[in-house]
Amino acid sequence: MTKQILFIVCLIATLGVFSFTIFRLYQLFKLTKKFPIGNYGKRFGLMLEVAIGQTKIFRKPVIGFVHALVFWGFLVILIGSIEMIVDGLFGIEKSLAFLGMAYNIIFASGDVFALIILIAIILFLGRRAFLNIKRFSGIEMTHKSHLDAYIALTIILLLMVSLLGMNTFYVVSVNQAEIKGLYPVSTYLAGLIGNGEQYSCYYEFFWWMHILLIFFFANMLPYSKHFHVFLSVPNVFLSRLDPLGKLPNMDSITQEIKSMMNPETAFAAPTGEVAPPERFGVKDVEDVTWKNYFDSLSCTQCGRCTSVCPANITGKKLSPRKVMMDLRYRMNEKGPQLVKNGKDYTDNKSLLKDCISVEEIWACTTCNACAQECPININHPTLIVEMRRYLVMEESAAPGGLNSIFTNIENNGAPWQFSAQDRLLWTNELYIKG
Ligand code: SF4
Ligand code: SF4
Repeated sequence: MTKQILFIVCLIATLGVFSFTIFRLYQLFKLTKKFPIGNYGKRFGLMLEVAIGQTKIFRKPVIGFVHALVFWGFLVILIGSIEMIVDGLFGIEKSLAFLGMAYNIIFASGDVFALIILIAIILFLGRRAFLNIKRFSGIEMTHKSHLDAYIALTIILLLMVSLLGMNTFYVVSVNQAEIKGLYPVSTYLAGLIGNGEQYSCYYEFFWWMHILLIFFFANMLPYSKHFHVFLSVPNVFLSRLDPLGKLPNMDSITQEIKSMMNPETAFAAPTGEVAPPERFGVKDVEDVTWKNYFDSLSCTQCGRCTSVCPANITGKKLSPRKVMMDLRYRMNEKGPQLVKNGKDYTDNKSLLKDCISVEEIWACTTCNACAQECPININHPTLIVEMRRYLVMEESAAPGGLNSIFTNIENNGAPWQFSAQDRLLWTNELYIKG
């Protein structure tokens, strides 16, 4: 009974802190712009393929396979965590054991996955500490980013140690005939210890260690780069479904152009079917869509996008990973103030220019390699292009080369500096048989 009460107190505290975090995020999402979604069938298929199947991760076969094993292991182990919560709430043991054979399979897999994840995390930690992996570096990868990764990896390591400890001392302290579930790795470890009820206190210790680490980790994740543990699957589900090279049009401009090209409406007053936006493009966090912000929260900071970015590879300042990290940072900085002081609040800074420089924005070739490579389908170029739209349409601040193209389009209807009437002059010198 004491264990049950203690557990309920811990669970309420965990849910309380978690609800506060979710409410805070909800308020920040309310500051952002719309991003329509639909086509749920296609999205579900994409989620199975990219998120559950981990297909993009396999582009780097060895480390990709290890990462996929960790992900799949987490899914299996999650069932055991749910059982612990039910057990703790109702003061019972092994509440899902009624599943019979399925229970044996799930818990045997969970036990094996715990060992695999433990080994994988040691590898990941060693790789970070001792190997000079290029994609883990960059100006955006501060000491805090690296520390964040080390803390999260260490907690996962402790989670696996406590899970194996819990399983091992369960096998050790319970009569052979009464053991519920199968635990291949822990049974082997138990054989090294012996048997006896006196070990049940170790089982309790590891049980509490494991569940409290889960509660702590769940509340830490939203403030860490490892928030992707929660968000990567939904982020893939919410992916942009348009072909990567297709840039989104602005509805109000499309409407204006269409009415200009229609002789009947060309000189009519605007219909106002689609209201012009308060601001063209993206200058600061309140101009981004909720999906842009969701992308930034989901980003694992793995650097796969930056490692394939031609601008970054050729020494330009642009790093697509930094664009996502800057958006998250800026929302953390300005978002709460906007919530508190209203939408007119300003701190005389902005995402564009103060966090992401104009030089970075114009270095992008819109090749979409970053979006193609991102394992959780984050789309950077759409955000980058929106920031360019702000510069061009609100500040008329396009680079010189583009300004002459814009002038030519305006005067000649084409990007070249020749009049439309002269387009076929080059044929004059050709001999064409009549
Ligand atoms: S679209 Fe832009 S940011 Fe992305 S890889 Fe290409 S150049 Fe880099
Ligand atoms: S945007 Fe995608 S590829 Fe780039 S660092 Fe984040 S998760 Fe990795």
